[in-house]
Amino acid sequence: MPTKEMVLELAGATVIKSPRRKRTSSWCWADGHLVLRVPARTSHREILRLIELARQRATAPPRRLASDATLEHEAAELNARYFGGVLPLRSIRYVTMTTRRGSCTPASGEVRISRQLASVPPWVRQAVIHHELCHLLEPGHGPAFQALLARYPLYQHAEDYLRLLERGTPVGAFPLSEEERQALLALLDQTGALPELRARLANDTATSC
Ligand SMILES: [Zn+2]
Repeated sequence: MPTKEMVLELAGATVIKSPRRKRTSSWCWADGHLVLRVPARTSHREILRLIELARQRATAPPRRLASDATLEHEAAELNARYFGGVLPLRSIRYVTMTTRRGSCTPASGEVRISRQLASVPPWVRQAVIHHELCHLLEPGHGPAFQALLARYPLYQHAEDYLRLLERGTPVGAFPLSEEERQALLALLDQTGALPELRARLANDTATSC
């Protein structure tokens, strides 16, 4: 087993074979040049597949925007799952907001969500919808509200994601470190929530760096 990193040029990319990596691969772009890091034993064929995957991701069209209909669907699911379907929600729609993620008028049962959230991953947007739905029962942000909020298991992760996003991380390019990926997987296993996201995380050995 080699103990030193091996660097090779392959299909226009720089490939670093690292004996310290056990299972996971990662890549990054340096001035438009692809740099791929893989475990030392990765096959030639697998390396070529990862190079192809990295290039596909880089040229992938922007994430599709979620519509008002998607919002309604997501709100109905959250209402059913975390509130037994009892919330008096009358309407939910996107509006243009620059300083807030969403707003809620409990008296009329209306929820508005910032249009900027149309392009974030569904589990992040759903955390914001969930926040506004909680306001239908609790107008303030006190302990009773926090207890309702905690029903959505990924709330804290979504909060972290949104904070990074609001600090300027581009949408859709939020990288998960291997440690974060494992933590999120463990959390999803515990709660049984979001099986689709769990499957994607479990299969996604290559994360952008
Ligand atoms: Zn609030």
